[in-house]
Amino acid sequence: DVLNTKGNSFESFHLKRELLMGIFEAGFEKPSPIQEESIPIALTGRDILARAKNGTGKTASFVIPSLQKIKPKMNKIQSLILVPTRELALQTSQVVKTLGKHLGVQVMVSTGGTLLRDDIIRLNDPVHVLVGTPGRILDLASRKLAEFDQCKTFIMDEADKMLSREFRNVIEQIITFFPSRLPGGANAYQSLLFSATFPLTVKSFMDKHLYKPYEINLMDELTLKGITQYYAFVEEKQKLHCLNTLFSKLQINQSIIFCNSTKRVELLSKKLTDLDYSCYYSHARMPQASRNKVFHEFRQGHVRNLVCSDLLTRGIDIQAVNVVINFDFPKNAETYLHRIGRSGRFGHFGIAINLINWDDRFNLYKIEQELGTEIKPIPSEIDKSLY
Ligand code: ADP
Ligand code: MG
Repeated sequence: DVLNTKGNSFESFHLKRELLMGIFEAGFEKPSPIQEESIPIALTGRDILARAKNGTGKTASFVIPSLQKIKPKMNKIQSLILVPTRELALQTSQVVKTLGKHLGVQVMVSTGGTLLRDDIIRLNDPVHVLVGTPGRILDLASRKLAEFDQCKTFIMDEADKMLSREFRNVIEQIITFFPSRLPGGANAYQSLLFSATFPLTVKSFMDKHLYKPYEINLMDELTLKGITQYYAFVEEKQKLHCLNTLFSKLQINQSIIFCNSTKRVELLSKKLTDLDYSCYYSHARMPQASRNKVFHEFRQGHVRNLVCSDLLTRGIDIQAVNVVINFDFPKNAETYLHRIGRSGRFGHFGIAINLINWDDRFNLYKIEQELGTEIKPIPSEIDKSLY
């Protein structure tokens, strides 16, 4: 259950009583894991880049700390929440209203597709939290209708989307209306970036605009830390030859080789056995009992290589595996992560090698972006210390 936690409580965050009341009235009893991780850090004023799956309570993770900081008596925009769509703006403003109900905090939604005149009229009344889409917010800022000189929190939900080509320039311009950096390099305001994915575009923004950001990643226990990833362009016909070369060059402790179909698993396994390699295979069409046996024996180290389909990708954590090969490149980032990722806690090193045919090249780039990782061309020699 995504909302299940280790037992921390909202009370332990030392929030204003009125804010706590709003939280409980919203029906939240305990913080979700992302809230538990991010709220205490955010309350210290630190910049945060947080990644967690959909539906895990990211909204309250940034709304609660930003509400805690707001001074309702000051008639100024103190928190800006940027989101990609009007619907999300409305939904987010509703969360701010619910949680901030007893604080006397005023929320305004401002997005494209509505009359600017209505926004101008609304801005005559106090606004503490402004929720909106980038285009309209920049419009208001440029016309000096909305001022961010006292804005203490800059929030981007769906940060990866906000920093895509579509919005990045607008975001950069909006930031110019924020207070400038303090002597020493820290920002005069706090940035909270939330997203389910962190492509490289987010990293570059973070390097430029965030100050010593605290990174939270609850996407999965899987990480690519410690795994050096390579690709090699190989035509379909050359794949087996390439694998053979890799086997002769690499010092494999144990390896897992992934194919995209049951048939290809069996075919490749047979070819490897013919070539006298120590090899097992496993796929979803095999009876569970045989699958268990194969997995158990592989784990025991009775055989060096395992050819398999995606059925085995989840939950695999065999420390002796130092090489993972995508004989067939996976179709999406999640599968990729599950195939080659491992639970970061153990900190073992490994390499992943992707055999890429011409059609896979876009997918390679896409997955690299989506996971915010780097997949390098394979060098002629791979340093043994990497695996
Ligand atoms: P995300 O942005 O991560 O996809 P949301 O912020 O939209 O997730 O929250 C998902 C749902 O979980 C919402 O309906 C929200 O009200 C609920 N929720 C969030 N935090 C809690 C909590 N601590 N306890 C109970 N429900 C929560
Ligand atoms: Mg969300």
